[in-house]
Amino acid sequence: MTTPGDDSFTLFDLKVEVIATERPMVCNHQAGDWFTLRGENLEFPPGQSFPLYPLAALLPLLPAKQRPTHRNDWMTTDAEIACPDPFCGGRFRITRVGTSTFRHGDVTLVPLPPDSSSHG
Ligand SMILES: [Zn+2]
Repeated sequence: MTTPGDDSFTLFDLKVEVIATERPMVCNHQAGDWFTLRGENLEFPPGQSFPLYPLAALLPLLPAKQRPTHRNDWMTTDAEIACPDPFCGGRFRITRVGTSTFRHGDVTLVPLPPDSSSHG
């Protein structure tokens, strides 16, 4: 719910963590490696890298996971992503760890449409 003049919106903060399986890791990611996503910003622990190709596979899913989804939607329930290297046993678990509130006016120059509730 928003009040007139309120241009705020809320997104989930995400944590992505490397999960081991019975198969060995091929890429340069280790069980327990992680990064977070808050708004548009990825953050990695100091000194930890993350390989390019698994990151590329994860990127399309992260904006969807940041947003509320229907309880019946697979995007709500499914949280483990396989590494795109077919020989790699790594998996990546996406967890909604919190929420952050942003203002439309702080993140885009595109104006909001007129508020239809203010016409009555
Ligand atoms: Zn991998």
